Amino acid sequence: MVEFVRKNLEVRIYPTKMDRNDDGEKTASISKIESNIGITRFIYDKELTFIKNFEKLLIQYGYNVNKLIINDKSCNVLLKMLRVDYSFLKKAESSSRQQAQRDLINAFKRYYDPTIKSDYPVLKTKKKSNKNSFRIMNNKNVRITKDKKGHDKIKLAKLGIVKFRTSKEYRELLHRGSDKNDETVKIKHVTVKKVNGIYYAVFNIKQLYIPEPIIGPKQQVGIDIGCSKLAVLSNGEEIPNLDLNKETDNIIRYQKTMDHHDQYSIRYREAQIQFNKSWQKLLNKRKDYYNKAVNYIVKNSCLVVVQNENIILWKNDKNLSHSIQLNAPRDFLNRLERKCNQERVKFVKISKYYPSTQICSKCHKINKKISRRENLGIRDWECPHCHTHHDRDVNAAKNILNKGLQIVGTTMQ
Ligand SMILES: [Zn+2]
Repeated sequence: MVEFVRKNLEVRIYPTKMDRNDDGEKTASISKIESNIGITRFIYDKELTFIKNFEKLLIQYGYNVNKLIINDKSCNVLLKMLRVDYSFLKKAESSSRQQAQRDLINAFKRYYDPTIKSDYPVLKTKKKSNKNSFRIMNNKNVRITKDKKGHDKIKLAKLGIVKFRTSKEYRELLHRGSDKNDETVKIKHVTVKKVNGIYYAVFNIKQLYIPEPIIGPKQQVGIDIGCSKLAVLSNGEEIPNLDLNKETDNIIRYQKTMDHHDQYSIRYREAQIQFNKSWQKLLNKRKDYYNKAVNYIVKNSCLVVVQNENIILWKNDKNLSHSIQLNAPRDFLNRLERKCNQERVKFVKISKYYPSTQICSKCHKINKKISRRENLGIRDWECPHCHTHHDRDVNAAKNILNKGLQIVGTTMQ
């Protein structure tokens, strides 16, 4: 059976100031990218406002708002009307116009889905996020090409070509994705985004899955996500938290400068630039560390079990909050899940209500004295029934693995 995996490749791009280069070729300039981002946001907000007003009207006349159908068909009418009223929308990629609308439809779908806790969609202009993006579907117009000087460039549909920089591995994948004769890699779509003033192109590719040769025995592993440590594995291995003190100090320092100066002053703006830079540095460092840890776990495992921790509950805890915000365990878990799916490693999430810390992994009796929240200080304990000495986190990880094995219906290897 032929199987494919989806992957995201993030590549830094360097849009130019000019719309054409010296050789007269169309280039994806900053202004073109910004206008695409703006148009995407415009469509999202206009359609959202329309739907909101329509809902108000329905309520006024006593109709049930929940019955409002928001899908491609109904929103396409809106998009057509917008295109008549605002001719500048033509400047954007047609697929990114469509994508903005689809984002809105998905936001509503999440809102109406009772299994997901999601808020009512918010106007993009009102969001304080500094993330801005738009997406282009690949209709054979997103690929790597050579410019007239013979340099590799990314072609972003009708926006034009743009310089990029990436790793050898990513470059090769992109080349294969651009090759019509290569059926093993395909570029599905690309998201152009701006984060803290830096531009990226995120390629979503579909790649033929080739299993890596197995080196040594693969283990079944349970993982306890902690706060003092990033993760503790059921085999006793520990993955420590990343030390982010230096980056945090910088961020706090620039934040203070910003607080003490007027919003429009030069000092404020300078501090803001530095603040964003340090924040980005911290995020990059963390991402890199998480990816390495995830790769290490996934490479050596055939089954990974984690507990769906109630992280929101933790956040209310004053002492934990700081450490969690810097070391986002949710991000780690998401990366782990994605990687497991990519590498075909079985991934099991057990309920957050399972008392993994309280059970003795040897005799399976519950020790009520140990609880997740109150006695975080207790690092190790002795079972009052079978007198086994437990490390709190390793014991929890073992229980998580046992529960996961029960769910998949196998026993310990
Ligand atoms: Zn026991």
